[in-house]
Amino acid sequence: MDPDKLFEDVFEKYCAHFNPGLARLVTFAGFGIEMEAEGCIITDHEGRRFIDCLGGYGTFALGHRHPKVVEAVKRQLDSLALSGKAFLTKQVADLAAKLAEITPEGLEYCFFCNSGTEAVEAALKFAKATTGRSRFVSTEGSYHGKTIGALSVTGREKYRKPFEPLLPGVAFVPYGDAAAAVAAIDDKTAAMIVEPVQGEGGIIVPPDGYLRELRKACDAHGALLIADEVQSGLGRSGYLFACEHDGISPDLMPLAKSLGGGVMPLGVVIGTQAVWDAVFGPNPLAHTSTFGGNALACAAGLAALEVLLSENLTERSRVLGAKMKAAFEEVARRHADLVLEVRGRGLMIGVEFRMDEVGEIVVAQLMKHGVCVAYALNNPRVLRFEPPLIIGEDLVAQVVEALDSALSETESLLAELV
Ligand SMILES: *Cc1c(COP(=O)(O)O)cnc(C)c1O
Repeated sequence: MDPDKLFEDVFEKYCAHFNPGLARLVTFAGFGIEMEAEGCIITDHEGRRFIDCLGGYGTFALGHRHPKVVEAVKRQLDSLALSGKAFLTKQVADLAAKLAEITPEGLEYCFFCNSGTEAVEAALKFAKATTGRSRFVSTEGSYHGKTIGALSVTGREKYRKPFEPLLPGVAFVPYGDAAAAVAAIDDKTAAMIVEPVQGEGGIIVPPDGYLRELRKACDAHGALLIADEVQSGLGRSGYLFACEHDGISPDLMPLAKSLGGGVMPLGVVIGTQAVWDAVFGPNPLAHTSTFGGNALACAAGLAALEVLLSENLTERSRVLGAKMKAAFEEVARRHADLVLEVRGRGLMIGVEFRMDEVGEIVVAQLMKHGVCVAYALNNPRVLRFEPPLIIGEDLVAQVVEALDSALSETESLLAELV
């Protein structure tokens, strides 16, 4: 099909039957139709190739269609795809055991689902059942998902407002402010939920020891600590789990995004024996999911963990992330009029601008240079770079050069405006 015709057809159907505003937003930023993706490269309908630095918000840690994950899924398809639910599933058993082995101490039991928001939803329910309490403490600027429960603890007014009233009894405290969290956690708190590094909030790294303070306050009041590692987990931050930076174990840890190896949707919440006893002791069917723990997704998860661990991608994320951040900082110094700060941990890097409008222009300019990025959902001043952990140094160098050029062009565009 002729590329222009194809684009027109897709765009019109989006406008008539899917989401007209989204279609305009995406195409205005210069994005076309995603036709193919392999490794770090996405190809659009015009055959333009982009280095994927958005990485599906952290989904593509192994790049697109990693051959070992694709192979595992293809092999699984030949015997069992979705699970019958009445039987036990080997892939569930193997993946749960593997996750218990690699996650922080005390996290022993898995509940499988299909997305991050479902994993958070389960964590909130489990915290309520375990403590017999219903109040939560969360942080401003946080992102935990968009189903009612997860949205109730998401710290962004814009997404919450149209759907209120949400769950009652949620207090929001400034992110990274341990004293504020400690003051908010009390004997009525079921759990504090926190991202070890805020993703959608704009790649915000908390002060050292922040999670330790939260851990202590939760313990003092019999509240649970939920570390939402949906985005920061599985090597992204240069640690296998970002909460390892502070050396703590949460009671519940939702994971999703890269867990399915960038090939299958897969989420999990992993928790302690005490939580599982409280939730599933009285009723093994207390929380269930029809598709959760299906054989295909678990096979993808097992293959993904195998690649992540055997190829030392966490270490790679730490080393390459530090290099990329240093290179970005040098670029930022040349464009200090636009860039306020470069920050992040591992290959989770944010570039914050001084003005709101700049982010959108830089995204469009970067597209012209063959780099795909986006600004953070909860903080449009921040461009978020989350390339595949397998990205090569040559591609990183191209991204750094593209950012330098995009910032120069943005300066010229802004100069023309005034
Ligand atoms: C993306 C994200 C979620 C929600 O995951 P979905 O799969 O989009 O539902 C939850 N928490 C964090 C930290 C996330 O980044």
